[in-house]
Amino acid sequence: MNLAQFPRRGYVQEATPIEFLPNFSKALGNKVNVYIKRDDLLPGTAGGNKTRKLDFCIADALAKGCDTIITCGAVQSNHCRLTLAWSVKEGLDCHLVLEERVKNSYNPEASGNNFLFQLLGVKSITVVPGGSNMMGEMEKVAEKLRAAGKKPYIVPGGASNALGALGYVSCMEEIMHQMFEKGLNFDHMVVPSGSAGTHAGIIAGMIGNNINIPVTGIGVNRPKAVQQEAVHKLANQALELIGVEQRVPAEKVVAFDDYVGPGYSLPTDAMVEAVKLLAQTEGILLDPVYSGKAMSGLIDLVRKGYFKEGANILFLHTGGSPALYAYLDSFRK
Ligand SMILES: *Cc1c(COP(=O)(O)O)cnc(C)c1O
Repeated sequence: MNLAQFPRRGYVQEATPIEFLPNFSKALGNKVNVYIKRDDLLPGTAGGNKTRKLDFCIADALAKGCDTIITCGAVQSNHCRLTLAWSVKEGLDCHLVLEERVKNSYNPEASGNNFLFQLLGVKSITVVPGGSNMMGEMEKVAEKLRAAGKKPYIVPGGASNALGALGYVSCMEEIMHQMFEKGLNFDHMVVPSGSAGTHAGIIAGMIGNNINIPVTGIGVNRPKAVQQEAVHKLANQALELIGVEQRVPAEKVVAFDDYVGPGYSLPTDAMVEAVKLLAQTEGILLDPVYSGKAMSGLIDLVRKGYFKEGANILFLHTGGSPALYAYLDSFRK
Protein backbone atom coordinates (compact mmCIF):
# COMPACT_ATOMS: atom_id res chain seq x y z
CA MET A 1 0.00 0.00 0.00
CA ASN A 2 1.41 3.37 -0.96
CA LEU A 3 -0.13 6.17 1.09
CA ALA A 4 2.66 8.54 0.01
CA GLN A 5 0.85 9.08 -3.31
CA PHE A 6 -1.68 11.36 -1.53
CA PRO A 7 -0.89 14.96 -0.54
CA ARG A 8 -0.70 15.49 3.20
CA ARG A 9 0.05 18.45 5.45
CA GLY A 10 2.15 16.53 7.99
CA TYR A 11 -0.04 17.21 11.03
CA VAL A 12 1.03 13.88 12.59
CA GLN A 13 4.77 14.18 13.09
CA GLU A 14 5.28 11.33 15.54
CA ALA A 15 3.53 8.12 16.51
CA THR A 16 1.10 8.61 19.40
CA PRO A 17 1.96 6.48 22.46
CA ILE A 18 0.62 3.00 23.13
CA GLU A 19 0.38 2.57 26.92
CA PHE A 20 -0.42 -0.40 29.12
CA LEU A 21 -3.18 0.29 31.68
CA PRO A 22 -2.20 -1.87 34.70
CA ASN A 23 -4.52 -0.24 37.28
CA PHE A 24 -7.50 -0.18 34.94
CA SER A 25 -6.90 -3.82 33.94
CA LYS A 26 -6.69 -4.73 37.63
CA ALA A 27 -9.97 -2.91 38.35
CA LEU A 28 -11.56 -5.18 35.71
CA GLY A 29 -10.27 -8.26 37.56
CA ASN A 30 -7.08 -8.76 35.48
CA LYS A 31 -9.04 -10.95 33.07
CA VAL A 32 -7.42 -9.16 30.15
CA ASN A 33 -4.55 -6.71 29.60
CA VAL A 34 -5.90 -3.40 28.36
CA TYR A 35 -3.64 -1.11 26.33
CA ILE A 36 -4.57 2.30 24.98
CA LYS A 37 -3.55 4.07 21.75
CA ARG A 38 -3.35 7.74 22.73
CA ASP A 39 -4.84 9.51 19.71
CA ASP A 40 -6.27 11.96 22.24
CA LEU A 41 -2.69 13.30 22.28
CA LEU A 42 -2.53 14.02 18.53
CA PRO A 43 -1.53 17.59 17.60
CA GLY A 44 -4.26 20.17 16.90
CA THR A 45 -6.24 22.10 19.54
CA ALA A 46 -6.99 19.63 22.37
CA GLY A 47 -6.15 16.58 20.20
CA GLY A 48 -8.30 13.77 18.87
CA ASN A 49 -8.84 11.53 15.88
CA LYS A 50 -9.95 14.12 13.31
CA THR A 51 -6.38 15.42 12.98
CA ARG A 52 -5.32 12.27 11.09
CA LYS A 53 -8.18 12.62 8.60
CA LEU A 54 -7.81 16.38 8.17
CA ASP A 55 -4.14 15.89 7.33
CA PHE A 56 -5.36 14.43 4.00
CA CYS A 57 -8.57 16.48 3.52
CA ILE A 58 -7.04 19.92 4.11
CA ALA A 59 -4.09 19.02 1.87
CA ASP A 60 -6.67 18.29 -0.85
CA ALA A 61 -8.36 21.66 -0.25
CA LEU A 62 -5.04 23.49 -0.57
CA ALA A 63 -4.06 21.49 -3.67
CA LYS A 64 -7.33 22.68 -5.23
CA GLY A 65 -6.56 26.33 -4.41
CA CYS A 66 -9.36 26.80 -1.88
CA ASP A 67 -9.23 29.58 0.71
CA THR A 68 -12.19 28.62 2.90
CA ILE A 69 -13.27 25.42 4.67
CA ILE A 70 -16.88 24.51 5.44
CA THR A 71 -17.73 21.53 7.61
CA CYS A 72 -20.53 20.24 9.83
CA GLY A 73 -21.18 18.34 13.03
CA ALA A 74 -23.29 18.16 16.19
CA VAL A 75 -23.42 21.11 18.59
CA GLN A 76 -20.42 19.83 20.63
CA SER A 77 -18.53 18.48 17.61
CA ASN A 78 -14.85 17.65 18.14
CA HIS A 79 -14.53 17.40 14.38
CA CYS A 80 -15.70 21.01 13.97
CA ARG A 81 -13.25 22.17 16.67
CA LEU A 82 -10.30 20.46 14.97
CA THR A 83 -11.28 21.50 11.43
CA LEU A 84 -11.49 25.08 12.66
CA ALA A 85 -8.17 24.81 14.52
CA TRP A 86 -6.26 23.45 11.50
CA SER A 87 -7.93 26.05 9.24
CA VAL A 88 -6.66 28.78 11.58
CA LYS A 89 -3.18 27.28 11.40
CA GLU A 90 -3.32 27.20 7.58
CA GLY A 91 -4.69 30.75 7.27
CA LEU A 92 -8.01 29.50 5.86
CA ASP A 93 -11.46 30.85 6.79
CA CYS A 94 -13.71 28.24 8.45
CA HIS A 95 -17.52 28.15 8.54
CA LEU A 96 -19.50 25.59 10.55
CA VAL A 97 -22.98 24.11 10.08
CA LEU A 98 -24.20 22.58 13.35
CA GLU A 99 -26.95 19.97 13.50
CA GLU A 100 -29.24 20.05 16.55
CA ARG A 101 -29.49 16.25 16.78
CA VAL A 102 -31.06 16.79 20.20
CA LYS A 103 -33.83 19.40 19.98
CA ASN A 104 -32.92 22.85 21.39
CA SER A 105 -29.44 21.61 22.31
CA TYR A 106 -27.57 24.51 20.71
CA ASN A 107 -26.67 27.15 23.26
CA PRO A 108 -24.25 29.84 22.06
CA GLU A 109 -23.15 30.29 25.68
CA ALA A 110 -22.33 26.60 26.20
CA SER A 111 -18.92 25.45 27.40
CA GLY A 112 -16.82 22.64 25.93
CA ASN A 113 -16.22 22.64 22.18
CA ASN A 114 -18.83 25.35 21.65
CA PHE A 115 -16.71 27.76 23.71
CA LEU A 116 -13.66 26.75 21.66
CA PHE A 117 -15.49 27.53 18.35
CA GLN A 118 -15.73 31.14 19.54
CA LEU A 119 -12.24 31.25 21.03
CA LEU A 120 -10.69 29.96 17.79
CA GLY A 121 -12.49 32.65 15.80
CA VAL A 122 -15.06 30.75 13.74
CA LYS A 123 -16.22 32.86 10.74
CA SER A 124 -19.87 31.76 10.98
CA ILE A 125 -22.10 29.16 12.61
CA THR A 126 -25.35 28.04 10.95
CA VAL A 127 -27.60 25.90 13.17
CA VAL A 128 -30.00 23.49 11.43
CA PRO A 129 -32.55 20.99 12.83
CA GLY A 130 -31.68 17.33 13.43
CA GLY A 131 -32.14 15.15 10.36
CA SER A 132 -31.33 17.99 7.91
CA ASN A 133 -29.50 17.19 4.68
CA MET A 134 -26.11 18.36 5.94
CA MET A 135 -24.40 18.27 2.54
CA GLY A 136 -27.23 20.40 1.14
CA GLU A 137 -26.93 22.86 4.04
CA MET A 138 -23.16 23.15 3.54
CA GLU A 139 -23.73 23.69 -0.20
CA LYS A 140 -25.99 26.65 0.63
CA VAL A 141 -23.21 28.22 2.72
CA ALA A 142 -20.72 27.50 -0.09
CA GLU A 143 -22.99 29.18 -2.65
CA LYS A 144 -23.12 32.39 -0.61
CA LEU A 145 -19.35 32.38 -0.14
CA ARG A 146 -18.74 31.82 -3.87
CA ALA A 147 -21.00 34.79 -4.63
CA ALA A 148 -18.76 36.82 -2.30
CA GLY A 149 -15.66 35.77 -4.29
CA LYS A 150 -14.41 32.98 -1.98
CA LYS A 151 -13.20 29.50 -2.98
CA PRO A 152 -14.85 27.17 -0.42
CA TYR A 153 -14.03 23.49 0.15
CA ILE A 154 -16.51 21.21 1.90
CA VAL A 155 -15.17 18.63 4.36
CA PRO A 156 -17.96 16.09 5.01
CA GLY A 157 -19.13 15.36 8.60
CA GLY A 158 -16.34 13.73 10.61
CA ALA A 159 -14.07 13.99 7.52
CA SER A 160 -15.45 10.52 6.89
CA ASN A 161 -15.01 10.08 3.16
CA ALA A 162 -12.50 7.69 1.57
CA LEU A 163 -9.75 10.34 1.62
CA GLY A 164 -10.25 11.10 5.33
CA ALA A 165 -10.35 7.39 6.18
CA LEU A 166 -6.75 7.14 4.89
CA GLY A 167 -5.77 8.85 8.14
CA TYR A 168 -6.76 5.66 9.96
CA VAL A 169 -5.24 3.37 7.35
CA SER A 170 -2.02 5.16 8.19
CA CYS A 171 -2.75 4.84 11.93
CA MET A 172 -3.07 1.07 11.49
CA GLU A 173 0.36 1.02 9.83
CA GLU A 174 1.72 3.07 12.73
CA ILE A 175 0.27 0.57 15.23
CA MET A 176 1.75 -2.32 13.26
CA HIS A 177 5.25 -0.77 13.49
CA GLN A 178 4.84 -0.03 17.20
CA MET A 179 3.77 -3.62 17.85
CA PHE A 180 6.91 -4.89 16.15
CA GLU A 181 9.22 -2.41 17.88
CA LYS A 182 7.78 -3.07 21.33
CA GLY A 183 7.35 -6.81 20.85
CA LEU A 184 3.63 -6.48 21.58
CA ASN A 185 0.98 -8.65 20.04
CA PHE A 186 -2.65 -7.60 20.30
CA ASP A 187 -5.42 -10.18 20.23
CA HIS A 188 -8.20 -7.65 19.74
CA MET A 189 -8.85 -3.98 19.03
CA VAL A 190 -11.79 -1.90 20.29
CA VAL A 191 -12.64 1.34 18.48
CA PRO A 192 -15.41 3.95 18.67
CA SER A 193 -17.62 3.97 15.58
CA GLY A 194 -19.40 7.25 14.73
CA SER A 195 -19.34 8.77 11.25
CA ALA A 196 -17.40 5.58 10.42
CA GLY A 197 -14.12 6.90 8.98
CA THR A 198 -11.99 5.79 11.93
CA HIS A 199 -13.38 2.27 12.13
CA ALA A 200 -13.35 1.92 8.31
CA GLY A 201 -9.75 3.15 8.04
CA ILE A 202 -8.53 0.72 10.71
CA ILE A 203 -10.22 -2.19 8.91
CA ALA A 204 -8.93 -1.11 5.49
CA GLY A 205 -5.43 -0.81 7.02
CA MET A 206 -5.69 -4.36 8.37
CA ILE A 207 -6.84 -5.79 5.04
CA GLY A 208 -4.24 -3.88 3.03
CA ASN A 209 -1.45 -5.13 5.30
CA ASN A 210 -2.73 -8.67 5.80
CA ILE A 211 -3.17 -8.21 9.54
CA ASN A 212 -5.78 -10.40 11.13
CA ILE A 213 -6.58 -8.82 14.47
CA PRO A 214 -10.33 -8.81 15.20
CA VAL A 215 -11.75 -5.28 15.57
CA THR A 216 -14.84 -4.54 17.64
CA GLY A 217 -16.52 -1.22 16.92
CA ILE A 218 -18.69 0.41 19.57
CA GLY A 219 -21.42 2.46 17.90
CA VAL A 220 -22.48 5.77 19.43
CA ASN A 221 -25.42 6.60 17.22
CA ARG A 222 -26.93 4.29 14.60
CA PRO A 223 -28.45 0.79 14.83
CA LYS A 224 -25.95 -2.08 14.39
CA ALA A 225 -26.90 -3.11 10.85
CA VAL A 226 -26.90 0.47 9.55
CA GLN A 227 -23.55 1.28 11.16
CA GLN A 228 -21.90 -1.92 9.93
CA GLU A 229 -23.12 -1.21 6.40
CA ALA A 230 -21.68 2.34 6.57
CA VAL A 231 -18.30 1.12 7.86
CA HIS A 232 -18.14 -1.72 5.32
CA LYS A 233 -18.90 0.57 2.39
CA LEU A 234 -16.39 3.22 3.46
CA ALA A 235 -13.62 0.66 4.14
CA ASN A 236 -14.06 -0.70 0.62
CA GLN A 237 -14.01 2.81 -0.84
CA ALA A 238 -10.76 3.50 1.01
CA LEU A 239 -9.20 0.30 -0.38
CA GLU A 240 -10.31 1.27 -3.87
CA LEU A 241 -8.84 4.76 -3.49
CA ILE A 242 -5.44 3.32 -2.49
CA GLY A 243 -5.56 0.78 -5.31
CA VAL A 244 -5.82 -2.37 -3.18
CA GLU A 245 -7.84 -5.02 -5.01
CA GLN A 246 -8.99 -6.97 -1.96
CA ARG A 247 -12.36 -6.11 -0.40
CA VAL A 248 -13.54 -6.39 3.21
CA PRO A 249 -15.46 -9.57 4.11
CA ALA A 250 -18.73 -8.39 5.70
CA GLU A 251 -18.17 -10.53 8.83
CA LYS A 252 -15.04 -8.50 9.68
CA VAL A 253 -17.21 -5.47 10.42
CA VAL A 254 -18.74 -5.51 13.90
CA ALA A 255 -20.29 -2.38 15.45
CA PHE A 256 -22.36 -3.01 18.58
CA ASP A 257 -25.23 -0.61 19.29
CA ASP A 258 -25.78 -1.81 22.88
CA TYR A 259 -23.95 1.16 24.43
CA VAL A 260 -25.68 4.09 22.68
CA GLY A 261 -28.27 4.44 25.46
CA PRO A 262 -31.19 6.80 24.77
CA GLY A 263 -29.42 8.35 21.77
CA TYR A 264 -26.43 10.11 20.28
CA SER A 265 -24.66 12.37 22.79
CA LEU A 266 -27.12 11.53 25.61
CA PRO A 267 -25.29 10.37 28.74
CA THR A 268 -25.55 6.82 30.11
CA ASP A 269 -24.66 5.57 33.60
CA ALA A 270 -22.18 3.14 32.03
CA MET A 271 -20.45 6.02 30.20
CA VAL A 272 -20.12 7.95 33.48
CA GLU A 273 -18.69 4.83 35.18
CA ALA A 274 -16.18 4.31 32.33
CA VAL A 275 -15.00 7.93 32.31
CA LYS A 276 -14.60 7.94 36.11
CA LEU A 277 -12.85 4.57 36.19
CA LEU A 278 -10.19 5.51 33.63
CA ALA A 279 -9.69 8.94 35.22
CA GLN A 280 -9.34 7.48 38.73
CA THR A 281 -7.13 4.50 37.85
CA GLU A 282 -4.89 5.93 35.11
CA GLY A 283 -5.40 9.72 35.07
CA ILE A 284 -6.63 9.66 31.46
CA LEU A 285 -9.69 11.68 30.33
CA LEU A 286 -12.26 10.12 28.01
CA ASP A 287 -15.27 12.01 26.62
CA PRO A 288 -19.04 11.68 27.18
CA VAL A 289 -20.13 11.16 23.54
CA TYR A 290 -17.59 8.79 21.92
CA SER A 291 -14.64 7.39 23.84
CA GLY A 292 -16.57 7.19 27.13
CA LYS A 293 -19.36 5.14 25.55
CA ALA A 294 -16.82 3.04 23.64
CA MET A 295 -14.97 2.29 26.89
CA SER A 296 -18.29 1.41 28.58
CA GLY A 297 -18.62 -1.18 25.80
CA LEU A 298 -15.14 -2.56 26.41
CA ILE A 299 -15.84 -2.82 30.17
CA ASP A 300 -19.11 -4.66 29.60
CA LEU A 301 -17.52 -7.03 27.07
CA VAL A 302 -14.68 -7.86 29.52
CA ARG A 303 -17.23 -8.56 32.28
CA LYS A 304 -19.28 -10.77 29.97
CA GLY A 305 -16.21 -12.83 29.01
CA TYR A 306 -16.31 -11.77 25.34
CA PHE A 307 -12.49 -11.73 25.18
CA LYS A 308 -10.39 -14.77 26.02
CA GLU A 309 -8.61 -14.83 29.41
CA GLY A 310 -5.26 -13.07 29.31
CA ALA A 311 -5.93 -11.42 25.93
CA ASN A 312 -4.10 -8.22 25.02
CA ILE A 313 -6.70 -5.64 24.03
CA LEU A 314 -5.88 -2.33 22.35
CA PHE A 315 -8.42 0.44 22.91
CA LEU A 316 -8.24 3.35 20.47
CA HIS A 317 -8.64 6.60 22.41
CA THR A 318 -10.03 9.04 19.85
CA GLY A 319 -10.03 12.09 22.17
CA GLY A 320 -12.93 14.45 22.84
CA SER A 321 -12.29 15.48 26.45
CA PRO A 322 -13.27 19.17 25.90
CA ALA A 323 -16.89 17.98 25.70
CA LEU A 324 -16.65 16.87 29.35
CA TYR A 325 -17.00 20.52 30.37
CA ALA A 326 -20.41 20.67 28.72
CA TYR A 327 -21.62 17.64 30.76
CA LEU A 328 -20.71 18.60 34.32
CA ASP A 329 -24.17 17.74 35.69
CA SER A 330 -23.92 14.12 34.49
CA PHE A 331 -20.75 13.62 36.54
CA ARG A 332 -21.78 15.50 39.65
CA LYS A 333 -25.06 13.80 40.37
C1 LIG B 1 -15.54 11.83 15.66
C2 LIG B 1 -15.13 11.14 16.89
C3 LIG B 1 -15.19 9.75 16.99
C4 LIG B 1 -15.75 8.86 15.93
O1 LIG B 1 -14.93 8.77 14.80
P1 LIG B 1 -15.64 8.54 13.39
O2 LIG B 1 -14.51 8.51 12.45
O3 LIG B 1 -16.58 9.68 13.22
O4 LIG B 1 -16.38 7.26 13.46
C5 LIG B 1 -14.72 9.14 18.14
N1 LIG B 1 -14.25 9.89 19.16
C6 LIG B 1 -14.21 11.22 19.12
C7 LIG B 1 -13.70 11.94 20.30
C8 LIG B 1 -14.65 11.90 17.98
O5 LIG B 1 -14.62 13.22 17.96
